Amino acid sequence: MPSIPRFVAYEGYEVLDFKEFLSQGRIEIHLERKKDKPFNCYRCGTQMMAIRGRYRLRLKEMPIFNYECRVWLWRYQGYCSKCKKARSEAVSFISSDTPHLTDRYAWFLGNLFEIAAVSRVAEMFQMKESTALDLDFNRLKRLLTQYKIPEVTEISVDEVYARKHDKFEGESRSRSFLLSFQT
Ligand SMILES: [Zn+2]
Repeated sequence: MPSIPRFVAYEGYEVLDFKEFLSQGRIEIHLERKKDKPFNCYRCGTQMMAIRGRYRLRLKEMPIFNYECRVWLWRYQGYCSKCKKARSEAVSFISSDTPHLTDRYAWFLGNLFEIAAVSRVAEMFQMKESTALDLDFNRLKRLLTQYKIPEVTEISVDEVYARKHDKFEGESRSRSFLLSFQT
């Protein structure tokens, strides 16, 4: 069977191993932290000094063909002198909307949420619907903080209907009658 091409790159990490479990429909990409990767607080960006621990991440990555793909890495924690507490290091490719996905996979799903129901996207990519809803909620919240409501220049009303009879006295659909409501 032909091997899957290695075209993935992760800032600050080397691809240590690329495990294909094709009969199980999944691929694992194992990363090793580069020695010169900056060790910065993920929250404020301050450089941290002492390592306080580490934990394993298994980020869901864009599927490769139809194989589920996960990125494995150790994420280190250190003491941030600005936040005055232990923090995880910044990793550039973790999505800002969810800690479970890579940024490119979250971006890809976000684009699908724009054109399809979240429940259908979740079904297609075998995600829990609640996970997909959380992702979409965080994505929309982030977009809303960047959105500026434009100045109101005109207000229009289309088809307001709240009555029992056909027409009020004097009502008309003529253009001159409708124009009389314009300000
Ligand atoms: Zn910090």
